[in-house]
Amino acid sequence: MDTFRFISATHPSQAIETAAKSPTAQLGATVRFVAGGTNLVDLMTLNVERPQVVIDINGLPLDKVERLPSGGLRIGALVRNSDLAHHPAVTKDYAVLSQALLSGASPQLRNMATTGGNLLQRTRCVYFRDTAHACNKRQPGSGCSALDGYNRNLAILGTSDDCIASNPSDMNVALAALEATIHVRGTHGERIIPIQNFYLLPGNTPNKETILEPGDLITYVTLPPPVAGTRSLYLKLRDRAAYEFALASAAIVMNADGGKVRHVRVALGGVGTRPWRSFEAERELSGKEATPANFHRAAEAALKAAQPRSGNAFKAELSKRCLVRALTMASKNA
Ligand SMILES: Cc1cc2nc3c(=O)[nH]c(=O)nc-3n(C[C@H](O)[C@H](O)[C@H](O)COP(=O)(O)OP(=O)(O)OC[C@H]3O[C@@H](n4cnc5c(N)ncnc54)[C@H](O)[C@@H]3O)c2cc1C
Repeated sequence: MDTFRFISATHPSQAIETAAKSPTAQLGATVRFVAGGTNLVDLMTLNVERPQVVIDINGLPLDKVERLPSGGLRIGALVRNSDLAHHPAVTKDYAVLSQALLSGASPQLRNMATTGGNLLQRTRCVYFRDTAHACNKRQPGSGCSALDGYNRNLAILGTSDDCIASNPSDMNVALAALEATIHVRGTHGERIIPIQNFYLLPGNTPNKETILEPGDLITYVTLPPPVAGTRSLYLKLRDRAAYEFALASAAIVMNADGGKVRHVRVALGGVGTRPWRSFEAERELSGKEATPANFHRAAEAALKAAQPRSGNAFKAELSKRCLVRALTMASKNA
């Protein structure tokens, strides 16, 4: 690991002004915020991230979960994953978020990991994490060892000829289904960004993963009020029951009372280059009967654009089965 300067931020504007000196907020940033440190420090020890300045933001007042007057929820960027998962408002109204968080990592990691850090956790692609290999995300133009290499855990949706790295987060999939909004404070003030617009597809610039600019500090995530009559859930399929990333997962928010789908939001994990909201599945389901045949049709639509590689072709079928099962559970027919 390179040497770096460590600063403890006492005020958001101090953190933002210091971080704004970095030429980029994407890979290659010379200034990085550190929250729980469970991803950044890992990548620094691997020489994938090499900031010259690390700003500890743990002293900033961003660690609260608050009800909004609208009935929605405001989650501070420094709220720990375990605190969020067990918060009464989350377990009551946003079960999909609680379940997604509790399916991730380990209790110890969840006690450290934060909302902001989880949003920005990097891919677990082995070639990204190993500087001995070509990786366009880590070193633009160097190539992609994953395309014909070990790609069992990588993406089949949203991929490009330059990158097939998957977004590894469980929380982000739940936030996509909940239509969360990311609040960012930067040198030009506050921005409010729907999660659907926050992550970029890899295209030919996989090194750029989000719309964040130098200095941008995630301050909050807000959730809209729960939609009346909906059930939500998260289903995660993986190689072992705990301490493992998703091969396929599904986050569902649905109202199928009376056997008809009146409201539905679907997001998939483990298969996308970003948390994958499936508008295709939602279109297939909206206004239809909550039947196995319609769930299968939705799953086919969701995975229609899948582009599997040598080692991850099984994911298309796995993801379809995951989605059908999750829809069945959410429609109370399980
Ligand atoms: C062994 C292991 C297993 C895991 N398993 C899973 C799993 O199954 N599912 C899953 O979803 N995750 C899993 N994780 C990942 C874990 O959830 C993330 O490491 C964690 O959420 C990152 O949060 P953090 O606060 O520690 O982030 P940090 O490491 O502190 O930061 C991560 C990135 O976010 C940036 N950042 C942090 N806060 C802000 C902010 N407020 N504004 C702007 N930038 C910010 C940092 O600069 C850094 O670039 C696992 C991790 C490990 C090590």
